[in-house]
Amino acid sequence: MSKYPELLLATENKAKIRELSQLLEGIPFRILSPDTKGIKLSVEETGRSMEENARLKATDYARASGLISIADDSGLEVDALSGEPGIRSRRYAGENASDEERISFILKKMVDIPWEKRSARFRCVLSIATPAGQVSICEGICEGYITFTPQGSGGFGYDPIFFIPEIDKTMAELPAEIKNQVSHRAKAAGKARLILNDIRETIFS
Ligand code: IMP
Repeated sequence: MSKYPELLLATENKAKIRELSQLLEGIPFRILSPDTKGIKLSVEETGRSMEENARLKATDYARASGLISIADDSGLEVDALSGEPGIRSRRYAGENASDEERISFILKKMVDIPWEKRSARFRCVLSIATPAGQVSICEGICEGYITFTPQGSGGFGYDPIFFIPEIDKTMAELPAEIKNQVSHRAKAAGKARLILNDIRETIFS
């Protein structure tokens, strides 16, 4: 038995579970996915911002499980599309669209947009909720450009069309350990670590 209290990852998204588990490695909690606890929730993302949606997911999972829970709401914001797809990133090309369909949908919309106007950012909001109702929020951003064609096969979602000028590669061309140093989720997770350390000290010491 681990001496650490449990922390539930409030998501069904396997790619997010993988990345968050790696990014939170070493924190004084035992990190669990919903399936290891037999929890299956479908939280309606009715919020008007990533912050509201992350808050909804974390509080619903914390209430249902009785565990401290961390939720991720994230997405891509393209300047030439007035910030779209934003909170609609997952559903942009339809509810059941694949990553490939989402990518071709966005590339078609941007076919006439020149390189210098293809700036975009990934945003990740993490929300940590306790079963007692305390909620903390933190955010990370990664700036880049939308390519004209997909490149690379790593990561998930829009990674193959998100180019990071400083590294001269798309997010999907990066090994996981490099994505985990530069991504929006990595930056938010760095802040979440501090919040989780505080929670650990106040609640469990
Ligand atoms: P959510 O489940 O509403 O937070 O959906 C987030 C969506 O944004 C995902 O389904 C992806 O399409 C996209 N997204 C979020 N984070 C990433 C990332 O790290 N890489 C690529 N796409 C991402």
